[in-house]
Amino acid sequence: MGTVGVARRDGSEQAPEQVAVTWCPSGAADRPESQVLGVRSGQDGQVVYLEQPVAAADVLGAVPAGIEPTRVLRFASHCVSACAHRRGNDCTLVERVQTLPAAREERSVPRCHLRSRCQWWQQAGVSACDRCPAVTTATFREDPLATLVADPATTPEQLNAWIAAAPDGPEAPEGRELPMRGSS
Ligand code: SF4
Repeated sequence: MGTVGVARRDGSEQAPEQVAVTWCPSGAADRPESQVLGVRSGQDGQVVYLEQPVAAADVLGAVPAGIEPTRVLRFASHCVSACAHRRGNDCTLVERVQTLPAAREERSVPRCHLRSRCQWWQQAGVSACDRCPAVTTATFREDPLATLVADPATTPEQLNAWIAAAPDGPEAPEGRELPMRGSS
């Protein structure tokens, strides 16, 4: 879990270690604290996680012009109260992600540098990590299921009903990406 300083009314700043901050694993690339979580690779676009965090600001300049950084990278940034997916201290996005079939078959969770401060891990544990590599932050394409998952108004019950009624059945099509963005 990360920490952050908070300004008091008298102008002083509360000690950083006194306020815990969790991080969104599908976060923004352009925040001061943004870090690269992983690289989307392979034909299926699954995320390969970095072992150590790298500041987003250090790599954004290397992304070729005309390519949206979230097409090739995943970013982590602070889980913020203003996010459309927040409900109290919870993230409703990961609740919807959990309704989808797991994207990986291995029994161990992916190794990633974010785990100790990850909002999804703290809220949903292994269930979130099972689906996390398939999440892509902002590469939207024509996919009604992904659109439903990304919509803060969608309930897990609605998702379950959609999946049960889907023409392809409850299994996710091979290589499906789950486009969704937190910290917006
Ligand atoms: S959900 Fe799991 S794999 Fe994804 S960033 Fe959080 S701890 Fe890492």
